[in-house]
Amino acid sequence: MLPVLLSFGSNLGDRDATLSGAWQILGQTPAVETVRLSSLYETEPIGGPAGQPMFLNATGIIRTTMPPTELLETLQKIEADFGRVRSERWGARTLDIDILLYGCQIVTLQKLTIPHIEMLNRQFVLVPASDIAGDWVHPITKKTIREHCVPL
Ligand code: ATP
Ligand code: CA
Ligand code: CA
Repeated sequence: MLPVLLSFGSNLGDRDATLSGAWQILGQTPAVETVRLSSLYETEPIGGPAGQPMFLNATGIIRTTMPPTELLETLQKIEADFGRVRSERWGARTLDIDILLYGCQIVTLQKLTIPHIEMLNRQFVLVPASDIAGDWVHPITKKTIREHCVPL
């Protein structure tokens, strides 16, 4: 079982119910154990089309025996179960789950980059991540999440 840090975001529908529902489903998924979910943070949408509703963001630590690509497929199924339709890039969505960190592994595949390429540029990821994973070392920068999470 390796620890994995996930990010969750929702800006359509019942965001609260979606995030807690997705967390619950992850906990019932074979080969996955949920460890800790951060608080939920309401954030302004960044990038993407104008006029999007506010996001609810969180991060969570799970433990899993699934290899990274299989985990990505599992997360995409959960997104689809919550009604995510992929249309515009960075468009509004019922549920987005990204893999931020997978133990201390570095993955560079066409469909999967770990650590998540944008995580260090996103306050809406770093703030909830430092809640629950402040001591986790980013395998490329070798700095902790807490060190990366500098208040603006
Ligand atoms: P962003 O990746 O900038 O947060 P997004 O989450 O809105 O944007 P999606 O449409 O959800 O983008 O995903 C696009 C593709 O990103 C996915 O199909 C997946 O193959 C790929 N991807 C690459 N690295 C990751 C990762 N670490 N976690 C999740 N998806 C990833
Ligand atoms: Ca994302
Ligand atoms: Ca995504």
